[in-house]
Amino acid sequence: MTPLLLLGLLQTAEPPIRPSAALGFEPGTDSMLADWKQVSGYMNTLAQQSPFVRVDTLGRTTEGRPFVLMTITSPANQNRLADIKRGQGLLADPRRLTDVELEDLRAKQPAVILISNNIHSTEVASSQMGMTLAYRLATDPAWRRLLDSVVVLMIPSMNPDGLDTVVSWYRRYKGTRYEGGPLPWLYHKYIGHDNNRDWFMLTQVETRLVTRMLYKEWFPEIVYDVHQMGTNGVRLFVPPFQDPVNPNLDPALVEAMNLVGTQMAAALYDAGLTGIAHQQTYDLWWHGGFRSTPTRHNMVGILTEAASTRLGSPITLSIDSVRQPGRGVNYAAPWPGGTWHLGDIVRYELITSHALVRLAARDRINVIDRFVSVGRRAIDDGLAGNPFAYVLPPPPDQRDPEAWSTLANVLAAGGVEVWRAAESFTADGKTYAAGSLVVPMGQPYRAHAKDLLEAQHYTPVADRPPYDVAGWTLPFTMGVRADVVNTPFRANLVKVDSVTPTPGRIEGSGEIFFLKNRTNAESRAVAALLGAGQMVTVVGDSLMVRGPRARAILAEQAARHGFTMTAVRTAPGGGVTRQRLPRIGLYQPWTGNIDEGWTRWLFEQYGISYTTLHDADVKKGGLRQRFDVIVLPDADGSSILRGVDSTRIPLQYAGGLGDVGADAVSAFVLGGGTLVCLDGSSNFAITRLNLPVVNVLAGEASGPQVLRFYAPGSIFGVVLGGVEGPRSPVTLGVSDSLEVYFENSAAFTVSAPARALATYPDRPLRSGYARFEERLAGKAALVEAPVGSGRVILFGFRPQFRGQTHGTFKLLFNAVLLAAP
Ligand SMILES: [Zn+2]
Repeated sequence: MTPLLLLGLLQTAEPPIRPSAALGFEPGTDSMLADWKQVSGYMNTLAQQSPFVRVDTLGRTTEGRPFVLMTITSPANQNRLADIKRGQGLLADPRRLTDVELEDLRAKQPAVILISNNIHSTEVASSQMGMTLAYRLATDPAWRRLLDSVVVLMIPSMNPDGLDTVVSWYRRYKGTRYEGGPLPWLYHKYIGHDNNRDWFMLTQVETRLVTRMLYKEWFPEIVYDVHQMGTNGVRLFVPPFQDPVNPNLDPALVEAMNLVGTQMAAALYDAGLTGIAHQQTYDLWWHGGFRSTPTRHNMVGILTEAASTRLGSPITLSIDSVRQPGRGVNYAAPWPGGTWHLGDIVRYELITSHALVRLAARDRINVIDRFVSVGRRAIDDGLAGNPFAYVLPPPPDQRDPEAWSTLANVLAAGGVEVWRAAESFTADGKTYAAGSLVVPMGQPYRAHAKDLLEAQHYTPVADRPPYDVAGWTLPFTMGVRADVVNTPFRANLVKVDSVTPTPGRIEGSGEIFFLKNRTNAESRAVAALLGAGQMVTVVGDSLMVRGPRARAILAEQAARHGFTMTAVRTAPGGGVTRQRLPRIGLYQPWTGNIDEGWTRWLFEQYGISYTTLHDADVKKGGLRQRFDVIVLPDADGSSILRGVDSTRIPLQYAGGLGDVGADAVSAFVLGGGTLVCLDGSSNFAITRLNLPVVNVLAGEASGPQVLRFYAPGSIFGVVLGGVEGPRSPVTLGVSDSLEVYFENSAAFTVSAPARALATYPDRPLRSGYARFEERLAGKAALVEAPVGSGRVILFGFRPQFRGQTHGTFKLLFNAVLLAAP
């Protein structure tokens, strides 16, 4: 479009409507919250009225709402977005970038930044702020001028479902004693607050939509994630972050994060605001959050964390009740206390956002140059070796073909180049078969791939725990073999966008089928078989399957998911035969339990039907008549028993199971039921059922902190076996040694008739951090305890942690599908 035509268009357009005119209130007004229909509706109107604003729907959320990306830039840039995206793709991969192209891009490519709001739905201010930000960018001449040099991508809410969940809860209890109080359920259908812990595993649709946009389409140089924290600390955290720095982060990015943060802080102080802190709580160790994954993609990733209000309602804090450091270089002006409004957060966040846009516009060429130089350094470092590549040999050198393909697909979806060997090759003296997957480190997103494939060795700074978990190594959590190769090698490689396991098959002939049960896909098949009324029998270390539909179901599942089984003509005798899916109850406390959400999500992924049980359903009793298996998610024992106090949450959600519910659970077990306790809920069962089991780490909660065992999110090895009597169905098909995920979890000593199914060896730590790991040696990680005519299965770790631990899903599947008689 020519400048003349553009001018004509601008002059004839209606002036864009203000958010206050569209909503009937100014965003940030006390006790007024716009929901997703209002927010997205306003953004759409603005896009119709302003040539600076464009709205795209990237896809649908978990619950079906439109997931929206806004592109705000000058009309001239709007008219060449395809060119700009192509340019970003070149900058992101300097191998494809010629010197001439770089000079051309330095001359005319705008900087591209992403501002993401409201990933945590109760941190609601940014969802409101975004409307004012978009309006100002589109209409204020001083802001608009910046848009020749910068493309502002904005996600108005990273979780529109959750925004509506929170706004409707807030409106429902506004004006009551529960105004602004906690929700009794998760604000993301499955994973609640963990929606900001899914950024490498990509299990949820929202994560996948944004990841695709970031690393396949837009490649922004700076990503800003807008958060809130508790109510009574500093008013706003901005970078610099706290130590330690992950070894895979480029130093130029670390300094650029500092730079962005101090620019924001300076702008806030320029505006006369106070309470802005650096180097608090949030460190640069962890991988998996929305601000941390871009930093492994050569982007500057930052967050800010504002002090919260009670959703839309203000809070008042005296100076004495504010927990804040004294005046210093990291906190130049303490907050004097007073009333803190939603509008205050909006005001702070508008200033930080504006400071970022201004910095990106003014510093455009540096922003571009840094993106390229960090990418070049990643490639050069990878080509120099140490390591040179990771090799993931194909099945049968992988126990679970689907875990192997999923790991490759997680990397590829995150923008990592994955290659398949067309022929066998030799690397570091080992021969690898054709079909091996190769992840070379000489690629732009080396840091992301390396950080996911290698072991973490966290070293605390000033005895501080990491902000989130300490370790996340995917080959360990997923039970996938990934060999490190340190020296360059030659191989005939073909780049792949995704990997599917080679279709499995039925070997032999006959209508009786034997499964080794080594893969998660076989558990999915067992659920389908039992759901269709086929017969499944545990015979020795195998599963025997029979029934009129068995062949059709198994053939279909094997072809899709890559496991192989044997058919025979005659069945041996013995074994326990099941012919229907166990009736599974999954307890959902009214505390918004994230582990419950992950469990539910996992069961749905594998076709395992369940019934959600609330406190009232349990208290009603008669559980044994209705269920074969009850699963208690990870939760503090006292929170299961007592829940949330009725002063904080409406009565119908208050109080937990109570003694009546706890007794009903005990009666269920004594009457022949199977109770599966995940991690913290084990303590509940040990106490209520008087199990001959001790959680030896329960006592670690007392005593001086430096003397306590401590492992805040680490991967430990365990060994199976050493168990008297027949193999438990819980470990059927599971490798004799495997890695488990441990997040301040439990470890047990047991007496008969309880027995340990998995035990920690002498030095169990594989990745992450553990203080006094020797205290785990010889302790049980997984326990089966017969009680009355039923049984309890205690997981002292997290078998389905954040949807990542494919290597231990099987134990949970066996516990719910096979352990009940
Ligand atoms: Zn947050």
